[in-house]
Amino acid sequence: MGLLDFLYPPRCPVCDDLRPVGEPVCHPACRRLLAPVGEVTCIRCGKPVPDESVEFCFDCAGRECSFERGVSAYVYEDEIRESMMRFKFHGREEYAEWYAEELILMQGAKLRDFRADAVVPVPIHGRKLRIRGYNQAEVIARELADRLDLPLYANYLRRNRFTAPQKELSNHERIRNLMRAMEPGPQSKRLSAQKKTPRRVLLVDDIYTTGSTLEACSRVLKTTGAEHIMVASICIGSGYV
Ligand SMILES: [Zn+2]
Ligand SMILES: [Zn+2]
Repeated sequence: MGLLDFLYPPRCPVCDDLRPVGEPVCHPACRRLLAPVGEVTCIRCGKPVPDESVEFCFDCAGRECSFERGVSAYVYEDEIRESMMRFKFHGREEYAEWYAEELILMQGAKLRDFRADAVVPVPIHGRKLRIRGYNQAEVIARELADRLDLPLYANYLRRNRFTAPQKELSNHERIRNLMRAMEPGPQSKRLSAQKKTPRRVLLVDDIYTTGSTLEACSRVLKTTGAEHIMVASICIGSGYV
């Protein structure tokens, strides 16, 4: 048992109970409560769709898409939604390890086949970072990068503006707003000066809902010279809301 396990015994990411060292982090019974994304998905973003005759989800059918495909582990509902809330807002940063393990268990082949040059997290605004103490997307991206043996470019993108919740906006307006709030970060400028810009980027966020944030980030990545982008998230909404 490592010192860290002793100081911070792992908690089940679903029910938040402490777990004895040596046992699976997530109770098998808790894991059974979750809905894996499965195989019947939008061929673009990886969101579950009602049946195989549906190629694209509602959001992907209605827009240009700058990333090639998306993968996710669980449908964003009930228990995993609560787990994500604790992860994001109540300091349960440690859940990221298990989230990354699950995503690789379910989507490892696709993630490896993409052969990314680097892993880039969706950035959060500095004000949010100070309140929360960590960027949840970066914590997940780091765990994924470790397991996929890829470099993590945590400051490749930067969020320069605070965007208010924008539920009332159309998808198109939301992407435009978000694009104005993102820019290439210091790491991007440095790598570009060294002519080491990554061509294949694995872009990571915690949750994929309409995909506006990931689409806006992908467009900014393309302006830096990225040619192929795959997006990965731990949870995803279902495709027909
Ligand atoms: Zn549990
Ligand atoms: Zn889609």
